[in-house]
Amino acid sequence: MAPQFKAPKGTFDVLGPDSARYAALVALFAELAVRYGFELLVQPMFEDVGVFQRVGESTDVVRKEMYDFEDKGGRRIALRPEGTAQTARAYLEHHPTPPWKAWYVGPKFRYDRPQKGRYRQHHEVGVEAIGTADADVDVEVIALACEFYAALGLTRLTLHLTSLGDATCRPAYRAELEAYLLERQDQLCDEHRDRITENPMRVLDCKRDACVKATKDAPHMIDRLCEDCAAHFARVRAGLDAAGIAYEIDPSLVRGLDYYTRTTFEFSTAALESAQNATGGGGRYDGLIEQLGGSPTPGIGFGLGIERILIACDAEGVFPVPKERLDVFVIDTTGGDAARDIARELRAAGLRADRAFDNRSFKSQLTAALRSGARLAVAIEDAGITVRTLQEKGEPVAVERANLVSTLTERLR
Ligand SMILES: [Zn+2]
Ligand SMILES: [Zn+2]
Repeated sequence: MAPQFKAPKGTFDVLGPDSARYAALVALFAELAVRYGFELLVQPMFEDVGVFQRVGESTDVVRKEMYDFEDKGGRRIALRPEGTAQTARAYLEHHPTPPWKAWYVGPKFRYDRPQKGRYRQHHEVGVEAIGTADADVDVEVIALACEFYAALGLTRLTLHLTSLGDATCRPAYRAELEAYLLERQDQLCDEHRDRITENPMRVLDCKRDACVKATKDAPHMIDRLCEDCAAHFARVRAGLDAAGIAYEIDPSLVRGLDYYTRTTFEFSTAALESAQNATGGGGRYDGLIEQLGGSPTPGIGFGLGIERILIACDAEGVFPVPKERLDVFVIDTTGGDAARDIARELRAAGLRADRAFDNRSFKSQLTAALRSGARLAVAIEDAGITVRTLQEKGEPVAVERANLVSTLTERLR
């Protein structure tokens, strides 16, 4: 009979051995985040749709791609499209002592036509630091992302950096840009021709030739920063320089969300085609908490897409799926008692051990051992106990039962 169900459109399962790479990636990120003073934040995968609507009315993420629906209680629910708005919601709900530094891992959703590298459910690791406007925290957040990429072995990354200003300097810039674009309205792409006033800065982010050409000489926020924003950005740059972190100033960087202010950044990889080359990004959102009903509270964070990062790793030939998944595989043709006891002893000694079940033939158990990815196999037969290597050729070696665990521990060292 053919299987009746498949994973929903735009989603996927991750099984071993690939899932071992997910586990290793998350463990690496968790270790770094904790080292930088971030605590794990576990959050619902869905929220009241208003949490996201309030912060992104003019963005595709919210306008077109939100995975929302009405639940049985008549509530309008959205599967989270991104992490920052709901973290701000949690901050307002629980009042943690600022600065509140939280890291997370989990799925994000968008209801979009699935294509390569864009799924309806993808996964991200990220951090948010809420309650301080200090430029040094911007540097820490960016440094954490850079250190994470470096730990994976990625080298062909570029950090794109800009400042999007604040409530003091942005309104005047926005008006200036709007006027510039309205003068060139008929030169813009179909999507942006009639949507200039909604959010003129989005036009700068458009990759279509028409918009790229029309905005070639457009004014940039980075050249219109007020004194405070300019000083803040200078401090961020000084901090990155002090940490030896290379970056490119990218005045057209806007990011797909409305709430960004001041420091805004994105990572791209030269190992992938330009349409799919962003592996993550983030920035400040100093006005977001206020938009959600709180008192003015600054914040900054980033989200990094796990699938995109793994594609970049494959392209660079780094952070491969681990070859060795087990230390020892136990073969037992004497009835199973020995396999049961030896597997337990090996695990108690801290080794990764598995065994064959169902009392199969020696040949079938050896096949399972080879398939398991273990380095060594122990075979318990009527003739005695032998240890053999699985990854490279070698003759089985006889071992005494009493010395078995210590011999294996020794050989695996
Ligand atoms: Zn456009
Ligand atoms: Zn400003």
